Amino acid sequence: MRAPAAQCAATRVAGRRVFRPVAAASTAWTTDVTKRTVPTQLEEGEMPLNTYGNKAPFKAKVRSVETITGPKATGETCHIIIETEGKIPFWEGQSYGVIPPGTKINSKGKEVPHGTRLYSIASSRYGDDFDGKTASLCVRRAVYVDPETGKEDPAKKGICSNFLCDAKPGTEIAMTGPTGKVLLLPADANAPLICVATGTGIAPFRSFWRRCFMENVPSYKFGGLFWLFMGVANSDAKLYDEELKALAAAYPSQFRVDYALSREQKNRKGGKMYIQDKVEEYADEIFGLLDGGAHMYFCGLKGMMPGIQEMLERVAKSKGLNYEEWVEGLKHKNQWHVEVY
Ligand code: FAD
Repeated sequence: MRAPAAQCAATRVAGRRVFRPVAAASTAWTTDVTKRTVPTQLEEGEMPLNTYGNKAPFKAKVRSVETITGPKATGETCHIIIETEGKIPFWEGQSYGVIPPGTKINSKGKEVPHGTRLYSIASSRYGDDFDGKTASLCVRRAVYVDPETGKEDPAKKGICSNFLCDAKPGTEIAMTGPTGKVLLLPADANAPLICVATGTGIAPFRSFWRRCFMENVPSYKFGGLFWLFMGVANSDAKLYDEELKALAAAYPSQFRVDYALSREQKNRKGGKMYIQDKVEEYADEIFGLLDGGAHMYFCGLKGMMPGIQEMLERVAKSKGLNYEEWVEGLKHKNQWHVEVY
């Protein structure tokens, strides 16, 4: 559903397409990283889990959809702000389910509704406006490129990601969840956080950094180091970079971001710079931090993990550590968090 023209506008910001209501102040690239007052009643109670299911999903409305990748990125990623009115609360690191509209024919030839897709929530529980009334997603548009022709086949494009990236202000979204307890922040607000993301895997970490640095929550005063490793193909594929730069400038001793730009940078051996190569550059520091109680998080495409594991195993061996025992020890102490898809 297209919102009335008077209420929304499509503009281009730094070469990027932006649909948002004219009056809305939110953008996906704020550089104001000062701590905001938030409605702290959202700190109360137990962690919400599966409040809404497939049979009776929560109906929310899209507020805005912004393309946050540049023209030379390998694919389009959108930041989507959803008006929830605070009625589907969540904690940082959780995901929502989205049921795309329409039906499909299942393997038995029956027409059934589309299945639910999960998306990590990219804002803190207070949302991008710090009032607890919205939640944001970071969605990569799934396209299908025919391996023979090398051309996109729109008939095979991803259903839910295209529905979300094409949504207009006012579009209704059927949501489930929240789900997930793998990527939660540690109870110890002083524990260092090492967050390793590829692509949209940055979403839960944005929810973390906003909670850690941009909100005034009396019961959660982050005192540790926040270290983000971000892997994307090139500079145009960076996500939320302006926000990251502002945080690095405001918290030089507490916030670090290191990029692995596979198509722009070279690793030490002269090959493409993948996320594991960038993490390896700081392996000694990371092993030390983990030894001292840091939490390490991984989020992004499944394909990121084998390279990371192989690198960590090699480093562990060089330190005389048994890799399996080392990882098991971290898992046992709940310092190891992996959510890949
Ligand atoms: P689908 O319609 O499910 O299609 C899947 C793929 O198959 C697409 O690439 C499509 O092009 C291709 N395809 C379709 N038809 C054919 C065909 N006939 N032959 C061959 N290929 C075909 N994604 C994000 O973008 N951001 C997130 O933050 C995020 N978080 C997630 C968190 C979790 C815990 C999980 C499990 C997943 C997450 N995902 C996230 C992935 C997301 O759930 C979806 O899987 C993704 O958006 C693709 O869904 P879709 O409906 O667009 O594609």
